[in-house]
Amino acid sequence: MALKLFNTLSRSIQEFAPLDPAGKKVGMYCCGPTVYDFAHIGNWRTFVFADLVRRYLEFKGYSVTHVMNITDVEDKIIKRVRETKTPLREFTQQYEAAFLEDLKTLNCVLPHQMPHATQHIPQIVALIEKLVARGIAYKAADGSVYFSIEKYRGCGCTYGRLLKLNFDEMRVGERVASDEYAKESVADFALWKARTPDDGDVFWPSPWGEGRPGWHIECSAMSMKILGPTFDLHLGGEDLIFPHHEDEIAQSEGATGQPFVKHWLHGAFLLVEGKKMSKSLGNFFTLRDLLAKGFTGREIRYLLLTAHYRETFNFTLDGLQGARAALGRIDECLGKLKEIVEPLTRPSATLSPPGGEKDREKGASKLIPNSTAALDDDLNISAAWAIVFEWVREMNRRLAESSLSADEAAAALTAWEKVDSVLGVGGKSEIEIPAEINSLLEARQAARKAKDFKKSDRLRDELKVKGWTIEDTPKGPKLKKI
Ligand code: AMP
Ligand code: ZN
Repeated sequence: MALKLFNTLSRSIQEFAPLDPAGKKVGMYCCGPTVYDFAHIGNWRTFVFADLVRRYLEFKGYSVTHVMNITDVEDKIIKRVRETKTPLREFTQQYEAAFLEDLKTLNCVLPHQMPHATQHIPQIVALIEKLVARGIAYKAADGSVYFSIEKYRGCGCTYGRLLKLNFDEMRVGERVASDEYAKESVADFALWKARTPDDGDVFWPSPWGEGRPGWHIECSAMSMKILGPTFDLHLGGEDLIFPHHEDEIAQSEGATGQPFVKHWLHGAFLLVEGKKMSKSLGNFFTLRDLLAKGFTGREIRYLLLTAHYRETFNFTLDGLQGARAALGRIDECLGKLKEIVEPLTRPSATLSPPGGEKDREKGASKLIPNSTAALDDDLNISAAWAIVFEWVREMNRRLAESSLSADEAAAALTAWEKVDSVLGVGGKSEIEIPAEINSLLEARQAARKAKDFKKSDRLRDELKVKGWTIEDTPKGPKLKKI
């Protein structure tokens, strides 16, 4: 079945078809972090969403080139560099390192390329030169170079492709130096910002004098350098639709005269406890804040992936507790399946004779086709999770009635691994033994060795009260959850 995705450009759900005539290669660009602080949980919703898109495209057999830029020069960064009196690279490097570490914590697949704006100044300058040569960009009295919306529209191009703009109601023709500007103004935006005393050491030479690039042009230059003038997918959070992505389209198409991106995907925002995140409300969480509260990257990833990407998601700490319980149900089921597959190391497991190909089919169940159908439908992840938990229930029922053969259990585990190559929540097929239980087990072993059977029996009873039984096997004691 074909993958269907909502395209912000056409405002409709469209079948995804790569530009590659062979239908194999896919170029995908996601606007990456502005490295001026630790990424917050809202940012992570968008990056985990991009990871889901990448993983699912690969699951469907596409050969994806995934690009995510690092915005390492921009208004907010310059401000913080000035405030902290730190050199630009030193300042951004610490947050970039943190970002990469967090990416790993959330089990996001590393993008193939992570270009830095500061390392693409020649490409950025060349792109601006093209726009100036085409008469769409101009140098203003302040020494900065601006993109002219009027000239662009005069060439028959549309400004307002992603967001319908009503030019009659909007303030048109203003000029903005800031990277982000208000929705009610359609302003000529800065491509190159002339050096000011506030910029400190952050400037580069250019044909228009010393200065630095605007944020929007960075993404146009880096994406087209790596993926070409026209590529398949461009992603970001919904707040980037205007002005950032609208400006990316205008700059890129204005310079090349070719369509920039075929499919635009935007992830909806994340709220915390129903409100927009803000430090003053005390609902602002970085990933690290949540880890410090004892949650794991896996639990956070799961929660971020529970809602459809086009729905606003309400993040709560209770939701994280729910994520822990849900993952526990998956882990427990996988642990039991593994016990059947590896009966030698797990003597307590139910054994039935291997049943061959037919059993393998039964064990795999409908997990793969059903979850694929859900994800093909504009990445309907909540439907995919419902299918996963239906499968867990089915497996648990069959485990309880001891009607699952080793082959079926193995097939079930393989099916889960395939589906999890998209979900990326892993799955501990070994049941995790808490440290406290392990210590009790060790103490019992020591008591047995010392032939203190009274004590070893007491410890066995204590373990039972805590929900664990011990089976003594020739290979040593095995713990089993009751
Ligand atoms: P930034 O580092 O500010 O450039 O943002 C990185 C990404 O996070 C962008 O794609 C934003 O659209 C996205 N983003 C920012 N805030 C949120 C939020 N509350 N929910 C979802 N995505 C967000
Ligand atoms: Zn961007």
